[in-house]
Amino acid sequence: MLLDKSEEYVELNRRADKKLDALRGRTIINLFFESSTRTSTSFELAGKRLGADVINMSVATSAIKKGETLIDTAMTLNAMHPDVLVVRHPESGATKLLSEKVNCAVINAGDGSHEHPTQALLDALTIRRRLGRLQGLKIAICGDILHSRVARSNILLLTTMGAQVRLVGPKTLLPRHADRYGVEVFTDMKEGLEDCDIVMMLRLQTERMKGNFIPSIREYFLFYGLDYDKLGAAKEDALIMHPGPSNRGVEIDSEVADDFSRSVIREQVEMGVAVRMACLDILATQHENAEARNI
Ligand code: ASP
Repeated sequence: MLLDKSEEYVELNRRADKKLDALRGRTIINLFFESSTRTSTSFELAGKRLGADVINMSVATSAIKKGETLIDTAMTLNAMHPDVLVVRHPESGATKLLSEKVNCAVINAGDGSHEHPTQALLDALTIRRRLGRLQGLKIAICGDILHSRVARSNILLLTTMGAQVRLVGPKTLLPRHADRYGVEVFTDMKEGLEDCDIVMMLRLQTERMKGNFIPSIREYFLFYGLDYDKLGAAKEDALIMHPGPSNRGVEIDSEVADDFSRSVIREQVEMGVAVRMACLDILATQHENAEARNI
């Protein structure tokens, strides 16, 4: 349903006049405690295109810098009656904690290495539009799985939608019990990519690494960086995905990243706005209905 609703917004976003008044009078607060380009911009655009008032709270200028706790910040914002809070936080679970303290809808825009649900939704939409389905597709998620919230959300969503998910990466960057996620696990890129429909690359999340996980960038690129040689193991028309920001020459070769006959990286960004419009629309309206029924 969410993906179907997003499709409507893809069409709207391609028109000259992209503005609706579906969320007129609603207030959305973007609360980002971690840096972001794609996610914060697309949530802002999504809210504005639906006619909502959107406030971007930069943590650099907020009272958090003066020692206020996350909960106090949440309570303060809650008192201003927002309809939706969009939250990104470096700690896993922070968004859930915050959502228990406020009475508006809360969207997780990425919490630590835990989850990034709207990224998985936009990835699913991108794949479904290109290949017409998710059921039965072989999808390889490659690189730093251990620290990636994108991987975790995608494993959940894509396996639920019937895709066969494979995780590919060095042992040090794979979660300990990865095989329990209902996926296949590989440490060799060519083996993991064999016959895949989708190759999804991930950035090394160095900001979350405590210690050394790879011998060197050069060696990592040699064994795990996506180049045409490794891509050759996947299906001839396999699509390349990356949530961004990508590090060329680390997890992906520049030429491969720019091969727009295979790479759908730009499309993922486009789908991000549509998916976030659908999420805001559904949540703002459903929350309102729940309030009216006094749930
Ligand atoms: N933009 C994605 C995230 O916020 C992926 C990344 O940062 O590597 O998790």
